Amino acid sequence: MAADPKFEPQSTIPQDWVFSTSCPVCGCASLSIKRLVSGPDELVCESCGTCFEVAQDGRHVHLVSFPPGLPGETVKGWSLPDQMRAEMRKSIRRVEDGRVVRSVGLPKPVATEDLVLRARKLYSLGNSRERVRGILEGIPGATPTQVEQALAEIGAHEQGRRAALFWIAIALMLILVVLIGLTVALGMRQQALSTPQPQQTGLPSSILSLVGSNSGLLNLPQVKVTRHEANGKKSACPSQPSNAAHLFGGEEGKWSITAFGWTFFSSKAETLYLPEGMSGEYPVFKENPVWERVAGPATLENVIYLNISCGGPK
Ligand SMILES: [Zn+2]
Repeated sequence: MAADPKFEPQSTIPQDWVFSTSCPVCGCASLSIKRLVSGPDELVCESCGTCFEVAQDGRHVHLVSFPPGLPGETVKGWSLPDQMRAEMRKSIRRVEDGRVVRSVGLPKPVATEDLVLRARKLYSLGNSRERVRGILEGIPGATPTQVEQALAEIGAHEQGRRAALFWIAIALMLILVVLIGLTVALGMRQQALSTPQPQQTGLPSSILSLVGSNSGLLNLPQVKVTRHEANGKKSACPSQPSNAAHLFGGEEGKWSITAFGWTFFSSKAETLYLPEGMSGEYPVFKENPVWERVAGPATLENVIYLNISCGGPK
């Protein structure tokens, strides 16, 4: 196969050679190895389909098959890929000049769209603009005008990609800003939720609103309980607010009847009396408010809220 006795084809081409050479026809660097049982391995160009052998020096190549329309006789024997391409370009230029049309045959015209597609593929494979130009110029039948058109398309395509990249970057930044905002807002909400809230204690809403509107209430003096000696003198549960005020103390308007007895609620601390046989409970505003229970007979000072159960301790 090799015409030049100086070179022998490498029978088994090492895998990394596909990266160290390029297609001797189109210059494309995207090559694959074709392993043959009956002869030396060949490299195949994924862009133009050219097949070629590589010499044992790893540099010189020998064309085995090439795209139709190529001036084959100018690239016979072993040569370096760059020299081979230069040789072909010269022949093609001569063809274009019309001087040696008969000797090499007129290459088939190439559609500009095909050149554009090939240029895009070469560009996407990582070839530089100049490299793409060289490859396109080496394609038989491609005119300089077509090459320029294809390169202009790459430019427009690249500009479009850059513009798209710009907007993607803007969109990503906006998403980031929104995410940061959400994180901060969630963090604040979490903090607010983790702050002890009186709602968790099951206290009446009237108390809660009072606590919420005037945190000074938390600084009220503690309810002072004075227990009295039981003497067996039990009182009946009052049926009217006036009776309740009379029996327990405080103003009539601050007492309301409940299922178990009476509830006292005032914005001003007062002293109340809890008769024998009845029990009371009042909220204590510590870090977590709790109910404090007390059994009568007892006197309670500094009371703003008191539940009285007429039936005694529940
Ligand atoms: Zn090629």
